[in-house]
Amino acid sequence: MEFDTIAAISTPPGEGAIAIVRLSGDEAISIAERVFQAPGQKKLSTVPSHTIHYGHLIEPSSGRVAEEVMVSLMKGPKTFTREDVVEINCHGGITAVNRVLQIVLNEGARLAEPGEFTKRAFLNGRIDLSQAEAVMDLIRAKTDKAMNVALNQVEGRLSKLINRLRQEILETLAHVEVNIDYPEYDDVEEMTHRVLLEKSQFVQQEIDGLLRTAEQGKILREGLSTVIIGRPNVGKSSLLNALVQENKAIVTDIPGTTRDVIEEYVNVRGVPLRLVDTAGIRETEDIVERIGVERSRKVLKEADLILLVLNYSDELTPEDEKLFEAAAGMDVIVIVNKTDLEPKIDMDRVAQLAGKSRLVTTSLLEEQGITELEEAIAGLFFSGAVGAQDMTYVSNSRHIALLNQANRSISDAISGVESGVPIDIVQIDLTRTWELLGEIIGESVHESLIDQLFSQFCLGK
Ligand code: GDP
Ligand code: ZN
Repeated sequence: MEFDTIAAISTPPGEGAIAIVRLSGDEAISIAERVFQAPGQKKLSTVPSHTIHYGHLIEPSSGRVAEEVMVSLMKGPKTFTREDVVEINCHGGITAVNRVLQIVLNEGARLAEPGEFTKRAFLNGRIDLSQAEAVMDLIRAKTDKAMNVALNQVEGRLSKLINRLRQEILETLAHVEVNIDYPEYDDVEEMTHRVLLEKSQFVQQEIDGLLRTAEQGKILREGLSTVIIGRPNVGKSSLLNALVQENKAIVTDIPGTTRDVIEEYVNVRGVPLRLVDTAGIRETEDIVERIGVERSRKVLKEADLILLVLNYSDELTPEDEKLFEAAAGMDVIVIVNKTDLEPKIDMDRVAQLAGKSRLVTTSLLEEQGITELEEAIAGLFFSGAVGAQDMTYVSNSRHIALLNQANRSISDAISGVESGVPIDIVQIDLTRTWELLGEIIGESVHESLIDQLFSQFCLGK
């Protein structure tokens, strides 16, 4: 495919030591060559691919030196877009980088639309749709765990799995087709049924497995909705502050994909916590008092994690007990705070109330126990298989919707075979499953969907 040459600033807005203007397209190298002056009159069109060059950017109209730059030159197809790509590294700061962008635009590049670099990678067959979406997830990924999920998808793990399932379906359909053509053999019908059932069940199991990872994927992407509950003065605000201070935002720098600074987020050992505003309050004081056990249960049900805080230096009260009641059956970590003070709480009773929930003692004042708390949070969500890095998580809502639809049509196929409906009806369900799975990786996708998807990207990606 042939496209015009696009350019954009591919570093995040704001300050930073360097900024990068990226060009992609047939004219990328010639445009750069016209505005670049290197020591010894080196010509960009003659240097080897994938090399970086020091020099100056010149305003062609005046011949004046505009910027000191490093230019990296990458010839297609071994580039992110599969086109010729030039990256101009200049000093950070809005004026410098805008001047560089203006110069290449004046020379004939077109300002890229949001996501257009990634869209080209897709259209040029460099990546499939699920990989393109993963790049988008990478840009938005908030923790390193979420980043791994996205990276796995960029590498095409999900695509491989989907392709395998589609292949299974195709082979099954082919098999059925052959048997329909030779109806004279008696055992053919029985065999067709058996194969159809086995293969369909296999495909459904795999789809089910993928859907089961979706919840975990969603958590990684969106954060674990977390509510801190406890009586007034037990230390809820202090806990919130401790978590925010201890856990810094993550900055990512993945070549070819994103140089975005990720927004601040409470990230506890790779588990993103989204501190939820429940009914307008992050930390929920006497929630049970105010709205009663039943209603607070409902509010708390929306949360993925509850941090229940108690005061070590105070007797347990009926309110404390009600909090346990309201949080029953949920993922709870019990925090007994203020261990620097005189003990008054009945720890045996606390342990009894906590049951299987994790129990941590802290002195937020003296910064004690915070590490243990973080370990408890991480342990809760990354124990066992869930923490395995090489798992294929599905975290994209479009993928989940398509998998759910595919699951329904494969179920239809299975119940069709079981109840003996005509084979051609079953074939329709199987074909539909195959199509739905195909949409995940961008086969048979309509143009408008593609535009919509890519316009969600940041500029310069
Ligand atoms: P909240 O009402 O539950 O949000 O409690 P705060 O976080 O506002 O804390 C109430 C008071 O307890 C404040 O004066 C805190 O400084 C104090 N506090 C918090 N954690 C500790 C602790 O571990 N030990 C001691 N001695 N005081 C604490
Ligand atoms: Zn408070």
